[in-house]
Amino acid sequence: MKKILTILGSTGSIGVNALNVVRSLESKFQVRYLAAGTQWEKLAQQALEFRVKAVAIVDENLKEELKNAVGKEIEVLTGREGVAELAGRDDADILLNGIVGSAGLEPTVRAAEAGRIIALSNKESLVMGGLLINRIMERTGAQLYPVDSEHSAIWQCLTGEKMESVKKLILTASGGPFRTKPINEFENISVKEALAHPNWKMGKKVTIDSATLMNKGLEVIEAYWLFNIPHERIDIVIHPQSIIHSMVEFKDGSIKAQLGLPDMKLPIQYALTYPEREDVAWEQTDMREVKTLTFEEPDFKRFPCPALAFKALEMGGSAPAVLNVANESAVNLFLEEKIKFTDIAIAIDKVLQSVEIINEPSFEELLEIETNITELVRDEWT
Ligand code: MG
Repeated sequence: MKKILTILGSTGSIGVNALNVVRSLESKFQVRYLAAGTQWEKLAQQALEFRVKAVAIVDENLKEELKNAVGKEIEVLTGREGVAELAGRDDADILLNGIVGSAGLEPTVRAAEAGRIIALSNKESLVMGGLLINRIMERTGAQLYPVDSEHSAIWQCLTGEKMESVKKLILTASGGPFRTKPINEFENISVKEALAHPNWKMGKKVTIDSATLMNKGLEVIEAYWLFNIPHERIDIVIHPQSIIHSMVEFKDGSIKAQLGLPDMKLPIQYALTYPEREDVAWEQTDMREVKTLTFEEPDFKRFPCPALAFKALEMGGSAPAVLNVANESAVNLFLEEKIKFTDIAIAIDKVLQSVEIINEPSFEELLEIETNITELVRDEWT
């Protein structure tokens, strides 16, 4: 029996990789639904190639173009609501959420409400609404399979283990393009420099997050909700080669690691084929070529963002959601060249200190945070 898939964010980096996995394992999967933000031509091509039942596009103005391109057989939905509706449909086995940023929250919530298996690449869903999503999952039996490479690594290391045997989770970080840059040069970092990641080819938002190390901060929060472990037992280690994707240290001092080339197809395929493993058609790891693996302590002076993420977890309630939205707005302002690289952390810290924290934010309150904090950061810095 083929597994029926819904892929959200299908024209982005994760979506394109996921469709490559599907192409190479044709007998295992059937894609039923696709959703994208604005790239209607690419979405239409994908829809026709995989003969899907329906597509959704966030930008409502592109409805007619998309309709004409896919023909009458394929249903076309629009807006964030259209994407959320697809996410909640119960005739798919796995929903891969590859949407970027806080816009991914609602589809994750809908899929959780529908009791689906969610292959989650959208870490912001958990950063924003970890508690809410966990509560819904307890009620509906929905499951989260991590697609983020670090969390996929931890998931693989935990297979066959008991959580009470775990001492800590060790998230590895490449250190990004500015790992060795002196602190006095940080102010002048350009957008172009920040978009040049040494190891991973990714979308713009996550690439900037990797340059500030906020990506690792968000991943700490993601791990906290995925594996239900106190933040004091989550560690970050800089590992410039990006071969070890993360590790788990156990009570007895034993450490398990998962290794592989930095290629998102591997964690995507693992989540889609779980609990099975399948062959791959692409390059695999040769340890003789890797040669050296090195590790360093992260420097929170040059990279204050991960420390802010730990702080938000400590503050609890809606603080991680606030952190996430403030980061997203600040990153956008940096990409528009309206603020400096170093302003990203300053902007987030300011917001965290100034807003009121809600204890157990509802879905509606999370959406309000998204709107209000975005405006707050824009108003303050432009
Ligand atoms: Mg990651």
